[in-house]
Amino acid sequence: MTLQLPVYLDNNATTPCDQRVVAAMLPYFTEVFGNAASRSHPFGWAAEEAVDYAREQVARLIGAAPREIVFTSGATEAVNLAIKGVYDMYAGKGHHIITAVTEHKAVLDTCKRLEKSGASITWLPVDKEGQIDLSALEAAITPQTILISIMYANNETGVIQPIRAISDIARKHGVLLMSDATQATGKIPVDVNTDGIDLLTLSAHKMYGPKGVGALYVRGRSPRVKLTAQIDGGGHERGMRSGTLNVPGIVGLGKAAELCMEEMANDAQRLALMRDRLQATLLQLEQSYVNGSTAHRLPHTCNLSFKYVEGEALMMGFNKTIALSTGSACTSASMEPSYVLKAMGLTDDLARASLRFGLGRFTTDEQVDYVIRTITDTVNQLRSSSPIWEMYKDGIDLDTIA
Ligand SMILES: *Cc1c(COP(=O)(O)O)cnc(C)c1O
Repeated sequence: MTLQLPVYLDNNATTPCDQRVVAAMLPYFTEVFGNAASRSHPFGWAAEEAVDYAREQVARLIGAAPREIVFTSGATEAVNLAIKGVYDMYAGKGHHIITAVTEHKAVLDTCKRLEKSGASITWLPVDKEGQIDLSALEAAITPQTILISIMYANNETGVIQPIRAISDIARKHGVLLMSDATQATGKIPVDVNTDGIDLLTLSAHKMYGPKGVGALYVRGRSPRVKLTAQIDGGGHERGMRSGTLNVPGIVGLGKAAELCMEEMANDAQRLALMRDRLQATLLQLEQSYVNGSTAHRLPHTCNLSFKYVEGEALMMGFNKTIALSTGSACTSASMEPSYVLKAMGLTDDLARASLRFGLGRFTTDEQVDYVIRTITDTVNQLRSSSPIWEMYKDGIDLDTIA
């Protein structure tokens, strides 16, 4: 069989829907189209039953009780509801929130918004492995601290934070712990009870489900977490998130969660082997580096930098045949280096010259072979025509030249 191009290796940005998820969703667009809030007839009952079943499937994936799951339009909305909802509800206790500089924009921008309206935010740094320092976290806690928001695993590097140790600290000081687990759920075992998490966000489209649907876990007891709703109207989802439920999407999220539970262990093992092969082979290129902890990392992700290669040229070298993300975000005028990689101590140039490989359920060995070959050729080719590379090869220490 010939290889289909382009190869998709950007599964941390989004995943394709599993065919089995699509099949589970389809009847809920047509035959079973009822409004889950219509309590007076069978169309509504059938929709409600489907939503209840999906709620069980999602709860099971993270060790929660079904009534602790609030369906949302995705992780961004779930993050907003969690952080703003806690901020409003616990205003009597204080206005202090602790988070980290490498969080997803959903968390960073929500905290920045609250900061403008009077919240005090502690932005924890990370070490070169991408992890926060536990003693710095504990030292930041004050009697006014209402929330610690630390992601489970990072979307750019795959680095996993020490969530259980973080939760021990949060518990000891009576502070709620919220974790953006959007990259972790369905990929590695996550359990809100053993992990000690009070609020957790997840999204269907990062785990082979549809876009535009996600969930917020809200701990129901010890402690019972309360939130101020951020969307009013109708009192759906136990008053926490009003709006007619996206029944097909929720059914898809439920099915995606069930499939992840069944296939997570196998997928993780298979993808880690492929990822390790890709990483080991590309690291044979001179002056190439892994970004972030390799001991505490998602099984399907790796982030590599190639020194003395220009980021934009690197991407242009293969972006018609390989879909993956680079360490730079294209803004209108410039290539902004990744704030996650910069926080880990990378220079702007090295951050721009980095690539995030996000393997997924449908990635094949043949695709990985192609990616290894293409990236190797691109890096070698760019360096062969690069004066900076030539200087490096001539033994000139470029780091000391301003
Ligand atoms: C994708 C992602 C989000 C946002 O999820 P949406 O469902 O697309 O809104 C939040 N956090 C992390 C870590 C993510 O990877």
